[in-house]
Amino acid sequence: MSYLPPEELRAQAKQLYIQLKGKQLTNKERMHIPLQDMPSQAPDTRIKNMEEVTCGYSKEQAYVEAMRCLQCKKAPCVAGCPVRIDIPGFIKAITEENFQKAIDIIKKDSLLPAICGRVCPQEVQCQAPCTLGKALKDVEKAVSIGRLERFVADWEREQGKVSVPAVAKSTGKRVAIVGSGPAGITVAADVRRHGHEVVIFEAFHKTGGVMVYGIPEFRLPKAIVQAEVDLLKKMGVTIKTNFLVGRTRNLIKLLKQDGFDAIFIGTGAGLPKFMHIEGENLVGVFSANEYLTRANLMKAYDRERSHTPIFHSRKVAVFGGGNVAMDAARMAQRLGAEVVNVIYRRTEKEMPARAEEVAHAKEEGIVFHLLKNAQRILGDEQGRVKGIECLSYELGEPDDSGRRRPVPIKGSESYVDVDTVIVSIGNDSNPLIKQTTEGLEINKWGNILVDENCKTSLDGVYAGGDIVLGAATVILAMGQGRTAAGAISARLEAR
Ligand SMILES: Cc1cc2nc3c(=O)[nH]c(=O)nc-3n(C[C@H](O)[C@H](O)[C@H](O)COP(=O)(O)OP(=O)(O)OC[C@H]3O[C@@H](n4cnc5c(N)ncnc54)[C@H](O)[C@@H]3O)c2cc1C
Ligand code: SF4
Repeated sequence: MSYLPPEELRAQAKQLYIQLKGKQLTNKERMHIPLQDMPSQAPDTRIKNMEEVTCGYSKEQAYVEAMRCLQCKKAPCVAGCPVRIDIPGFIKAITEENFQKAIDIIKKDSLLPAICGRVCPQEVQCQAPCTLGKALKDVEKAVSIGRLERFVADWEREQGKVSVPAVAKSTGKRVAIVGSGPAGITVAADVRRHGHEVVIFEAFHKTGGVMVYGIPEFRLPKAIVQAEVDLLKKMGVTIKTNFLVGRTRNLIKLLKQDGFDAIFIGTGAGLPKFMHIEGENLVGVFSANEYLTRANLMKAYDRERSHTPIFHSRKVAVFGGGNVAMDAARMAQRLGAEVVNVIYRRTEKEMPARAEEVAHAKEEGIVFHLLKNAQRILGDEQGRVKGIECLSYELGEPDDSGRRRPVPIKGSESYVDVDTVIVSIGNDSNPLIKQTTEGLEINKWGNILVDENCKTSLDGVYAGGDIVLGAATVILAMGQGRTAAGAISARLEAR
């Protein structure tokens, strides 16, 4: 679909808004309302800045999009949402132009709507089973639930109306939270509401986990994450940054000597995987984690003011097809690379990245090499990357994940000329806590084992998010945080 500037999309929506306002529509009429596209910066403009790519719906666009919802009685969208937001309820409130009611409904179940509205993979969650998408035989034509969620969350913030959640009378009980990603933030807020004292210990100098160090500014503005963290502080949560549990202080000592009654571990999956191919130690090869952390957390993109160096690349190859790969590729382009190649060994259909991110990457001119994989990285006499040798693949039988297995085609070698390689083939769990906490059980992938209440093998110790699930999503981390918070509060109240 060709690019339309925000003003044009908004003007079209205004016309429709006038036509639809206050009308009682049949389902058939609702099905004919056109899907409201998300306004965004023009591709050739946005690749030269770090500002958010998407601009958000106008009030009229939100109204028109909300009018597409069929208000299904059984609402399959709710079943598709990991935290079971009352989706038809909040969408109906938008059609009543009661945005406060809409955000209040969402906030009963989701703590970070401005973030989830931006980064959740709605197309495989709430929007996948949407009745409208099914009726129109196209999941992309489902009601844009995520965009509507973002609209009301942004509306609330822009009105300066974000209220500080009420905190119960102090119980005198203390909870330590290790890691300040979405899992840790969710536990902190939920447990604090019950009147328990909460201290978050974060290894980095900034709070927010991957939402700050991994997902780039152009996809998730850091001011939005900061607003959530500020809310925690206003609720009375203490945050200790530059505190690496397992080094600065051991987890068992926190529990046994420092007077905490329960601990939640939300340390994420920050250990990058490599391909173990020839040339991976050449100068110019990075893990996506390192590359993005330098660029985002350490603000290396701000070359004038930041002291953090970042490699000057001309031609880049990114290995992988997930969100992390898309972020690394699009960041490399914004940092000045002339050509950015994504090398992925399956087809676009199997790509784990969100469809919107793949579409944005394509619009921005990222070159996709599908059914290809690097078999070695080639270097020059100084030990610097000068290219990659790839093999072509075809898809065979489905593997354990249900995706068709990529099978290399003999003799199909090809060469891509690059000076930088960014390896983005997944992350494993951070291992430090396990290595320094006796009795904490993990599975063969290093993920912490928990029961249905997110309780670990140690009494009083809970865990959730990527450290339990492996590299997953923001909403799943929040969902586990909520479960753990419920169990922690129940435990403390029973003591
Ligand atoms: C580049 C990138 C893009 C992504 N894009 C999306 C997306 O579009 N949509 C989506 O839903 N998901 C996305 N994800 C995945 C999502 O961000 C994660 O699933 C989610 O952040 C996991 O939350 P968490 O709270 O478990 O851990 P994290 O967000 O990883 O936070 C863990 C925190 O713990 C801290 N920590 C680690 N060890 C210690 C220690 N020993 N002591 C103290 N602190 C410690 C870390 O510094 C970190 O701040 C992306 C991930 C990456 C890397
Ligand atoms: S399934 Fe789709 S159409 Fe039905 S209530 Fe949910 S969002 Fe509305």
